[in-house]
Amino acid sequence: MTTPADVGRHQHHVDPSELVALGAYRREVLERIEPLEPLALGVLEAHGCVLAEDVVAPAAVPGFDNSAMDGYAVRATDAPVDAELEVVGELAAGAGAGHEVGPGQAVRIMTGAPLPVGADAVVPVEVADEHEGRVRLRRAAAAGDNVRPAGEDVAAGDMVLRAGRRLGAADVGMLAAVGQAGVRVHPSPRVVVMSTGDELADPTAPLAAGQIRDSNSFTLAAQAREAGAVAYRQARVADDAQALRRAVEGALAHADLLVTTGGVSAGRYDLVKEVLAAMGDVRARKVGMQPGMPQAFGFVGPMPCFGLPGNPVSAFVSFEVLVRPAIRRLQARADLNRPRVEAVLDDAVASPPHKVSFLRVRLHRRDDGWHARPTGPQGSGILRSVVDAHGLAEVPTDRQRVQPGEALTVHLLGDGV
Ligand code: AMP
Ligand code: MG
Repeated sequence: MTTPADVGRHQHHVDPSELVALGAYRREVLERIEPLEPLALGVLEAHGCVLAEDVVAPAAVPGFDNSAMDGYAVRATDAPVDAELEVVGELAAGAGAGHEVGPGQAVRIMTGAPLPVGADAVVPVEVADEHEGRVRLRRAAAAGDNVRPAGEDVAAGDMVLRAGRRLGAADVGMLAAVGQAGVRVHPSPRVVVMSTGDELADPTAPLAAGQIRDSNSFTLAAQAREAGAVAYRQARVADDAQALRRAVEGALAHADLLVTTGGVSAGRYDLVKEVLAAMGDVRARKVGMQPGMPQAFGFVGPMPCFGLPGNPVSAFVSFEVLVRPAIRRLQARADLNRPRVEAVLDDAVASPPHKVSFLRVRLHRRDDGWHARPTGPQGSGILRSVVDAHGLAEVPTDRQRVQPGEALTVHLLGDGV
C-alpha cells in the first residue's frame, strides 16, 4: 500500500458542531438563487441560453413546393422511361412563379427553385440528356419524386422549440428559419470576480518582499466563463474596509453575482466577511468540506455574494462545488453539475472526519472501467495538482480512509479525459 495522499495535512482545528454539512449548505444557497429575468436577445446572441418562451412557427417551412435536385420538372404522367419532352424554360433557386409545365413539356430546374405549375416530379440531371431544346429521360418519374413539399420541415402553427430548452446551434438556425429576429431567454449572468489581500501583485509586477501573484482572480474568472457567465475581473482590493466597501458597491452597479476570494477565514485582516455582512445579509460559515471550509454567502441588495477562501485550491474547489451551480441556476439551466463518473481508486487516501473532501485525480480507462489516481500533494495551495487533474473525486464524510480498489464519484473538470 502506498502512503495515503493526505487531504488534511494542514487541518484547521475545528469543533465539528460548528460545521454545517456541505449538502445542506449547498441546498440552502441554491434555494435562494432565482433564474435571471428573461430578456429579448437576437437569435445568435441567445445561443447557449435557456429559452423563456415557447416558439411557434407563424408559417410553413419551406413555404412552397420546391425541387430537391438539379434536373427537370415534369408531369409524372408524361414521363415514362425514354420519354422525350420539350424544355420550355429554366428556374433557378430564388426564381419567382412564371413557368408552367404543359403536356409533353419540362422545365430545367435547380435545387430549391419553386416547382412550376403543372409539374409534380423532378427528374435529376444525371439521368436526363438535353439536346437542342428537348430532353430525353433515362429513368421514369413518379409523382412526388425529388419534390420537397411545402411544410415538410415545419408546418404553420407547429411548436418548434419549448420554453426551458437550452439553445444549441441547430435551434438558433430554426429560429432564423421560422423568421424570428429575437427571442426571450434567461441571459448569461454577469459575474464580478474580486481578489482581496494586501499581499497580491499583478502577473507582471515586480514582487516586493512577502508578495505573491494574484492567481485566483484569473482562475475564478475563467471558471465563471466555463460555467456560462460573462466574467469581470476586479483584481487586488486591499485588506481595508473602505476599499472593500467601495469595490463591492462598484460591483453592485453591474453584476448579477459577486465572487470574492480571500479574507473569510480567522485572521486579523480577514475583513471581507465583516464588510459583506454590514452591507447585506452575508453570513460566514464553516462548511464541512476540504478544501474550502471557510465560506461566506448572502445578498448585498439583489446581488448574491460568495466569499471564497484565498488559498488557490480552496477557491477553485469552492467555486466548482458552490458557485458553479449557482451560476447555472441564474441561467435557468437544468444541468447544475459537472458530469460525473464512478472510478476505482488506485492509491489509498486519507480524508478528515466530518468533511466531504475533494481529491484532485487523473483518470485512466481500463477494461473494468474508470480508475482514478491522486495527482500529487493535496495541500490547498498546490495549484499544480489541479492543473494535472481530470476531476475531483468526492470522499464522503463517513470515510476517513479509502483503500485501493474502492470506488468514488469523480466530478469531471473541463471537456474530457
Ligand atoms: P486568506 O483567505 O485571505 O487568508 O488567504 C489564504 C491564502 O491564500 C494566503 O496564503 C493568501 O496569500 C493566498 N491568497 C489569497 N488570495 C489569493 C489570490 N488572489 N491568488 C493567490 N493566492 C491568494
Ligand atoms: Mg487575505
